[in-house]
Amino acid sequence: MFDDLPRAPLATLPTPLETAAPMPNSAARLWVKRDDLTGLGGGGNKARKLEFLCGDALEAGARSLITVGAAQSNHCRMTAAAGARLGLEVHLILSGDAPEPPGTETGNQLLSKMFGAQMHYTGAAESHWGQLEIAREALTDQLAGEGLAPYSIPIGGSTAVGGLGYAAAFVELIDQCEAADRMPSAIVFTSSSGGTHAGLLAGRAALIASGRLTADTAPDVVAIGVAKGVVMGLPDIAELADGVLDLMGVAARVDPNDIEVDGRWIGDDYAVPTAAGDAAVEWAAMANGLLVDRTYSGKGLSGLLGLAAEGRWSADDDVVFIHTGGWPALFA
Ligand SMILES: *Cc1c(COP(=O)(O)O)cnc(C)c1O
Repeated sequence: MFDDLPRAPLATLPTPLETAAPMPNSAARLWVKRDDLTGLGGGGNKARKLEFLCGDALEAGARSLITVGAAQSNHCRMTAAAGARLGLEVHLILSGDAPEPPGTETGNQLLSKMFGAQMHYTGAAESHWGQLEIAREALTDQLAGEGLAPYSIPIGGSTAVGGLGYAAAFVELIDQCEAADRMPSAIVFTSSSGGTHAGLLAGRAALIASGRLTADTAPDVVAIGVAKGVVMGLPDIAELADGVLDLMGVAARVDPNDIEVDGRWIGDDYAVPTAAGDAAVEWAAMANGLLVDRTYSGKGLSGLLGLAAEGRWSADDDVVFIHTGGWPALFA
């Protein structure tokens, strides 16, 4: 389903599927799909999307990449690393102001600079995503005018092309689950711009269409939303997922009833830590030796632990947490 699609080999795949410590409030068995270990520039979920996005960019003859993100964007950091690997100039449009004094970047910003990206600080408030997208369009026009053949990537890399990375990841995960002889009841992950979610749903629909899974045996795909305003409305996720299926050449459509976004774990806003998220960061570290961050994977894990405590799963259930990465932000 993916062989004929342009793809730049940027990620170290397959990522490991590991067992985790017993959960504090549930007898269900927890597994962690280590997509924090995709390798590219510190790893994380964006490496899978960037394989297809950069494949598309190279095929289109692009000479530069432009993308946008929050001040501590993991997506921007990994796009910078992808550009370094592929010899493409990278421009990042970021929320907030340039750190003062100059040269005092931390976390993802420091790493993006190390990968050679050009940083464009917009002064935008942290979750004013529309402002970033307007700046992206302006810079794309400018670089095109300068002959830099830009490939312009929307927030989070969440286009149908980017979503292919998580359709392929779903198939990779099912391969591993079948090899371990345990089909999970649910796959839970942190969601913001929706491309990871759409890709997983497309992969699930494709395996149901091919007869490898049935609607009953296929795991639930449960998104824990961590960004208001980017957490797309449910029809948008369906549209994006169907776009991924089109690129895969699969005629199936995603069943809207299968789209689940749990927005109860975000707290006050994007990137504002929550008590439950911080407890999950500590549990991951102290019980598992695992790093999750306060903006993404920690809040996502708090959602999984919260659903488990509510009794969604029992001792017979296996639940997979896709660890989407984000640990460099711990150093900011
Ligand atoms: C981008 C990101 C997500 C969310 O992925 P989307 O495809 O944008 O929904 C989750 N976790 C981390 C660490 C991320 O960087």
